[in-house]
Amino acid sequence: MLNSEIRPHHGLCTAFFEGKGYSPAFVRHMTFMINYLNSQNPDIRLVLHPDSICSACPHRRNDICESEQKVLLYDRQVLQFCGLKENQVLPWKEFRKLVFLRILEQGRLSAVCRDCQWQYLCSEKNQKFLTTLPKYDKIEL
Ligand code: SF4
Repeated sequence: MLNSEIRPHHGLCTAFFEGKGYSPAFVRHMTFMINYLNSQNPDIRLVLHPDSICSACPHRRNDICESEQKVLLYDRQVLQFCGLKENQVLPWKEFRKLVFLRILEQGRLSAVCRDCQWQYLCSEKNQKFLTTLPKYDKIEL
């Protein structure tokens, strides 16, 4: 069984991922993890340290993210908006649904990660999601 520790802000990164990332190895791993999480719906543990997605990231050094202070703020904000706690264990799709309902559908994306380098990509997709797609509770899980 794979390590299913997930940093809370990765609930946002995985929502609008489109094959762009920090390195080819990272993109391959991110693609694999998203497919694994969405197809297997494992129980995940929400952690405030590098996780199963970070494992292939070139910005992970000595098991610490080079941007740790910044991403920790993202993580804490996601936990707060979703009403979740550090180390909480829940099914991946339950977490994903909370991220959509309490952050993306509420237009709160930029309140979490306004200074992320990928934010322009995600906010464009979030805008489309808000205006053209049915609400998350009508989308098949
Ligand atoms: S930048 Fe940091 S939080 Fe993001 S995937 Fe890399 S190590 Fe993980």
